[in-house]
Amino acid sequence: MYLDNSATTQVNEEVLKEMEPFFREEFGNPSTLYGLGRSSKNALNQAREKVAHAINADAGEIIFTSGGSESDNLAIKGIAFKLRNKGKHIITSNIEHPAVKNTLHFLEKLDYEVSYLPVDENGIIKIEDLKESIKDETILITIMHGNNEIGTIQPIEEIGKIARENNIIFHTDAVQTFGKIDVDVEKLNVDLLSLSSHKINGPKGVGALYIKKGIRLEPLIHGGGQENGIRSGTENVAGIVGFAKACEIVSQNLDSNSKKLSAIRDELIEKILSTIPESYLNGDREKRLPNLVNFRFNAIEGESLILLLDAKDYQTSTGSACSSNTLEASPVLTALGLDPVDVHGSLRISLSPETDDFNVDDFVSVVSDAVSRLREMSPLWNQDTDYKAVMCNGKRNRCRRC
Ligand SMILES: *Cc1c(COP(=O)(O)O)cnc(C)c1O
Repeated sequence: MYLDNSATTQVNEEVLKEMEPFFREEFGNPSTLYGLGRSSKNALNQAREKVAHAINADAGEIIFTSGGSESDNLAIKGIAFKLRNKGKHIITSNIEHPAVKNTLHFLEKLDYEVSYLPVDENGIIKIEDLKESIKDETILITIMHGNNEIGTIQPIEEIGKIARENNIIFHTDAVQTFGKIDVDVEKLNVDLLSLSSHKINGPKGVGALYIKKGIRLEPLIHGGGQENGIRSGTENVAGIVGFAKACEIVSQNLDSNSKKLSAIRDELIEKILSTIPESYLNGDREKRLPNLVNFRFNAIEGESLILLLDAKDYQTSTGSACSSNTLEASPVLTALGLDPVDVHGSLRISLSPETDDFNVDDFVSVVSDAVSRLREMSPLWNQDTDYKAVMCNGKRNRCRRC
């Protein structure tokens, strides 16, 4: 049972079928003029229409990229470089995906100044903080739509309104929300929005950046001038066609999927919290993705839990795929104000519309057994002891993990 769909998803069969001709019969370069090339060009145009339609944009506002990471890089560096003479201040949150966070760290080395807005204990930024952080030199606000670790959804419409009032460009990473909740660029008041194909049952290595008409940015990849001169390189036609098909499928089923997934999610939250002692939900209870939950179980190691669940054929994760092979506490969970010791017992479960046969009761019982087993084996789990003091050898925040 694959329960790690925030990391990636399986390619939908219809998507694969749609892609197949573009590897053999329809292999033309879309930039060439003869029939074979024209037919690839047509496929690209149709794909652009479909992706645009899915987010209520115009086809001319869609630039295809190699995925969410590239879209984030293009949006942020593209604006930072273009507007460097106007100002060098950027505002973000302190729970962004590494594709945003590390891009900003890179810009800091180039003398850009970045304000990292804190989040509250539910993982949501405060609008007041945003307003206070705006300066004359602010050129960009980049704040993610839905968080990939805890599933919390930010007030993007409101942030966008403030950005507009202050004449600041606004980018959001909508990789996790797209296909799960309504993503409408008009309603969200955004100028730039990142999408990735492999999180919505499309192929890996393809994504898009929505660039609102009139917004200019500096390209990162120079060459033959494809994608309106913004992203050179012969297009990944098969991937783009597959991505567009995946967009079409998730858009058509958005409401029914959202209902189905949030019902399972709510049942999972209710049953985990009522069955397992000292268990908590990370992130806001209401403002969250329909397909993602993140729990915290005191006094256990998340990694050990993942392995026990894997032994029972449940594939889950402790947080984001990008940070799970480091021993550092998740920066997203610590941003919630959690004690670094508690953060280590976290479990993320993320569903896809294609998750079938998932029995919540069976799963909760397996998790419950695994957590009990880990706590029994752990000298740290003793109802009478302050396990945190034990875990850190009496020196809070000083142990190997903290
Ligand atoms: C997965 C993810 C990305 C990166 O997308 P890729 O297509 O893997 O590069 C960016 N942002 C968020 C929120 C993600 O979940």
